[in-house]
Amino acid sequence: MPQSKQKQRPHAKTQSRKAQTPVQFRRRVTQWFARNARDLPWRGTTDPYAILVSEIMCQQTQVATVIPYFQRWMLRFPNIKSLAAAAEPEVMSHWQGLGYYSRARNLHRAAKSIPGNFPTTLEEIQSLPGVGRYTAGAIAAFAYDKPVPLVDANIARLLSRLFAIRDPIDSAVGQSRLWHEAARLQPSRSGRAFNAGLMEIGALICIPRNPRCPACPISDFCAAFASNTQRQFPVKKIPPRPATLTEHCALIIRNRQILLQHQTGPRWRGLWKLPPIRRIPQRPPDLLIEYPFTHHKITLSVYRQPAPRANPLGLDWHPLAGLAEVPLAAAHRRALDRLLRLHT
Ligand code: SF4
Repeated sequence: MPQSKQKQRPHAKTQSRKAQTPVQFRRRVTQWFARNARDLPWRGTTDPYAILVSEIMCQQTQVATVIPYFQRWMLRFPNIKSLAAAAEPEVMSHWQGLGYYSRARNLHRAAKSIPGNFPTTLEEIQSLPGVGRYTAGAIAAFAYDKPVPLVDANIARLLSRLFAIRDPIDSAVGQSRLWHEAARLQPSRSGRAFNAGLMEIGALICIPRNPRCPACPISDFCAAFASNTQRQFPVKKIPPRPATLTEHCALIIRNRQILLQHQTGPRWRGLWKLPPIRRIPQRPPDLLIEYPFTHHKITLSVYRQPAPRANPLGLDWHPLAGLAEVPLAAAHRRALDRLLRLHT
């Protein structure tokens, strides 16, 4: 068993089984993975670009949601060159519905920043826009088979239970401990199957609420399982209460066209949204919806308004019939779907 601190060693059963070595731990992981890996469209490829796309899409988005987006994306932008050559509106349009659009912009910037072949060293990969320590490690491991540590949300949860880590996994101390343990677990070479297996056990077995310990291939290495404390892990910091904000916007439709505002600031850059209202009408809004944004809870309040005589800067008319092709901020698309059902 991979152990770094005496006080966190697993239970007597594990300690008494001298045969439970790091080698056997890795073997359990890789053998389980060989039998149980999901058939995902980015599995089996060693193309670093495809792995980059899949990893960026899977950030903050569930795998089942990502699959059709990934397939469409790879058909339209099959390599770095085709993505680098694409115009931003088309890139955003292919991302539409996945949310967190800064990911698409960063992918686009990353493609433009690679002049020739995809970088191969961890440092070079991590210097790409939007590529952090985890994503760089994933590319190094899955594309180049390097034994580098990876800590994503699934692996963090699994390691916190495996080693019964009491430091919050979202704290600097907790993160440092997780990366340290992930590095110690690595084989001396060929990191692909081991890291993929660990991630897959985290995703399918060591799941958030009710970990499936009886089906877990590494349960007899697990400190939390030994002490029946699985549900106490992972420990997380207590989040601050979200601040509340209200966003007042207009629904302006004329001749089967809708007036939208193009976003150029850091939030939603490149996307379109309902235009803001400065003077709030003295009547109830036509629609109220709530949505989260970083640490805020935002109430979007929409009022039907007459068309202005001239278009203010940054506003443009879009045919209602082509709205599906317009890259819209997700909350505004949700509001529009409901408003258009009511008003057209
Ligand atoms: S035994 Fe349970 S808690 Fe431990 S790693 Fe496996 S699934 Fe997670």
